[in-house]
Amino acid sequence: MTTALFTHDSSLKHQTPAGHPEQIARIEHIAAALNAPQFQTLIRRDAPDCTDADILLCHPQSHLDAIAAAEPSSGTVALDGDTHMSPGSLKAARRAVGGCVAAVDAVLTGDTNNAFVACRPPGHHAEHSTPMGFCLFGNAAIAAKHALDRHGLSRVAVVDFDVHHGNGTQALLWDEPRTLFITSHQNPLWPGTGLPGETGATNNVQNWPLPPHSDGRLMRATYQAEIFPALNRFKPELLIISAGFDAHADDPLAQLNWSTEDFAWLTRELCAIAAEHCQGRVVSTLEGGYDLNALAASTAAHVRVLMETAA
Ligand SMILES: [Zn+2]
Repeated sequence: MTTALFTHDSSLKHQTPAGHPEQIARIEHIAAALNAPQFQTLIRRDAPDCTDADILLCHPQSHLDAIAAAEPSSGTVALDGDTHMSPGSLKAARRAVGGCVAAVDAVLTGDTNNAFVACRPPGHHAEHSTPMGFCLFGNAAIAAKHALDRHGLSRVAVVDFDVHHGNGTQALLWDEPRTLFITSHQNPLWPGTGLPGETGATNNVQNWPLPPHSDGRLMRATYQAEIFPALNRFKPELLIISAGFDAHADDPLAQLNWSTEDFAWLTRELCAIAAEHCQGRVVSTLEGGYDLNALAASTAAHVRVLMETAA
């Protein structure tokens, strides 16, 4: 009974301008935390390059072409006010997609019980033809489509607990009735979407905004009263987690006050739901988290619970 960790050094080649919160050091801090002795039994895998077809599960060819054409030969280029590319960004983004696809394969074939993908850039803000919010491709949504279209699953749940609304995943899965996308996030906060009235084409999207300065008590109450029951009604065959750790109290980009233990609790509860409905099959992928120490500690707590529940 194992947990797999998918990473790749290409994540260390995707550069953002000096002072940008979505920085190479995020992966370095996570890697250091996951090198502690308690993580010795993690199955460590290289995140493979994805295929163009993987990206085309959620994006048009024109988006892939535009991202490829935007990569500079030196320095960094801004795709918008937040989202940047450097030499190596396309390879990194492709490995982030490929890691998620490979993690789904590993979990659905029984190669591992659950998996965490620690790659960057993150994915949950990327819309069909619009990179945004540090994201180029919709990693989590592509993973869901891969599980549905290629493994023949009928019901895949995607839970996004990043502090920002997963507008990209919502857009990519909006009219996909085989998915249930549930996101909690601070509101008001960038990007401003994610209100309860946004419910998807077939009531397959749920948005649970949380007020600034609220803490883990409101998070736990909201998940227990609303989100866990919805997941139990849906009975997922695979649970995908968009794991952003920027709801942590120390995070500089938002104002929620979750603790490291709150992330562990939430992971434990989500894994219990996966154990109930789908033999514990969970694929979790890194999204945000910008205080380096809080990110490392919260990610370690998250992966530790994945390992405990796989045991
Ligand atoms: Zn975020």
